[in-house]
Amino acid sequence: MTTNYDVIIIGGGPGGYVAAIRCAQLGMKTAVIEKWIRPGGDPALGGTCLNAGCIPSKALLESSERFEELKSGHAAAHGISADNIRIDIAAMIARKEKIVSELTGGIAQLFKANKIDWHQGHGTLLADHQVALLLNNGDEQTLRSDNIILAPGSIPAALPSAPFDGDRIVDSSAALDWTTAPPRLGIIGAGVIGLELGSLWRRLGSKVVILEALENFLPAADTQIARLAKRELSKQGLDIRLGAKLESAETNGNAVTLTYSGSKGQQSLTVDRLIVAVGRKPNTADCISPDAGITLDDAGRIEVDEFCQTGQPGIWAIGDAVRGPMLAHKASEEGIAVAERIAGQKPDINYDAIPFIIYTQPEIAWVGATEQTLKSAGTDYRSGSFNFAANGRATAMQAATGQVKVLADAQTDRILGVHIIGPMASELIGQAVIAIESENTAEDLARSIFAHPTLSEALHEAALAVDGRMIHGVNRRR
Ligand code: FAD
Ligand code: AMP
Repeated sequence: MTTNYDVIIIGGGPGGYVAAIRCAQLGMKTAVIEKWIRPGGDPALGGTCLNAGCIPSKALLESSERFEELKSGHAAAHGISADNIRIDIAAMIARKEKIVSELTGGIAQLFKANKIDWHQGHGTLLADHQVALLLNNGDEQTLRSDNIILAPGSIPAALPSAPFDGDRIVDSSAALDWTTAPPRLGIIGAGVIGLELGSLWRRLGSKVVILEALENFLPAADTQIARLAKRELSKQGLDIRLGAKLESAETNGNAVTLTYSGSKGQQSLTVDRLIVAVGRKPNTADCISPDAGITLDDAGRIEVDEFCQTGQPGIWAIGDAVRGPMLAHKASEEGIAVAERIAGQKPDINYDAIPFIIYTQPEIAWVGATEQTLKSAGTDYRSGSFNFAANGRATAMQAATGQVKVLADAQTDRILGVHIIGPMASELIGQAVIAIESENTAEDLARSIFAHPTLSEALHEAALAVDGRMIHGVNRRR
């Protein structure tokens, strides 16, 4: 049977499900094909982000932070002490599962309210705008639509030197389900996922060593912020070894022996478990038939133009499966923009105003250009920094570590980048996104009134510092 829809979406992650809701709002008869099965056997919407990414990782990071606060004596500074602090990791994982099922269930409700059809199974794009549907129950169907959005997301990249075995050598998804902390944990890759998972399990008691092939720590972040981050994370006990390229991982019973090449030549390390977090790859291997006329690039990403249009009229692709950063909010914005383009509107996405966040403690967040990219582009800029040490709210929170840095064009004063390491950086960066999106100058921020005492005042002070007018710090001579 062939069913006709105004739009069919393959993949129900933050790209696909958001696109579907926007399509339905715009009056389109919409179908989503999503195959995800949760550990208990229930089907789920929400993709990687809700089931095995953003949400479960943040739920566990939150629990582990609370545990560490009490356990490490951090709370003692507030005059709070408690004996016999223990954590039931299985209960913590169960809380995470409950959060995931509430949120994925919420999307299923939104689908019902918006009259979106969810086909629970695997979709494959065929030629002539057709989609083969293999339902999770084994039934087969063919659907057709003039408009098809491919949103199949991404999967963990594997390392030939450390193949996943689902037990000792695992990907990020498995490391969000452990019910005990491995005494010795190895992580390959000091990217966002490696640092977040490393922080999580270190707080829960693992001795964590992160091996990173590059000599530079967090090369995409502003160099000064990355340096501060490395210092803080190392102080907490994360053993981050840069310039350490994994060569082999051998499992003997309950242990994994790693061999890596580092500054001191070949070295080895034995751990109880190993997380391979060397990035993710587009999940495009089995959702597009070769005669559908869709081109993939060398990395397996679906080739699209700036509007997410593939080479085939009416076939679009969004999210982790296309160029650009692998972030949930980027996927969702593309989903909204494509839905509106199908409806004849002309929205644009500002790829220069996408925020990046690492949910370590302190949090790291940025938007726009870094000092190193401005320098290499030869842009004349001014910079202003403010330390949280002089921020009243951060001090009251016992979290006065880190800084805010604002970069502005030297001629026009337009804000080009904002970089934060510190408390609630993930929330503060939203203000910088609005400023960049609104083409604000540093002076606009400097003249805005920020409530006292708030963490946001650090952003205000950094904007003042661009012009050498910071109040609660000593301004650099110009
Ligand atoms: P996905 O979320 O991967 O969804 C794709 C969906 O398509 C999947 O559900 C899959 O089952 C389905 N699918 C694929 N092929 C087919 C097919 N042929 N038929 C039917 N269904 C199909 N990003 C952030 O912005 N913030 C974070 O804090 C963050 N934390 C993360 C933490 C971890 C541990 C991980 C792994 C990722 C994290 N990410 C985070 C990245 C984020 O999860 C992704 O960028 C986001 O999920 C991409 O959305 P998407 O819709 O493109 O793809
Ligand atoms: P991200 O892409 O942000 O998830 O980060 C993945 C990190 O893994 C990158 O910084 C890579 O340099 C790193 N990486 C990739 N391969 C290896 C390897 N064989 N050994 C150590 N680190 C690696």
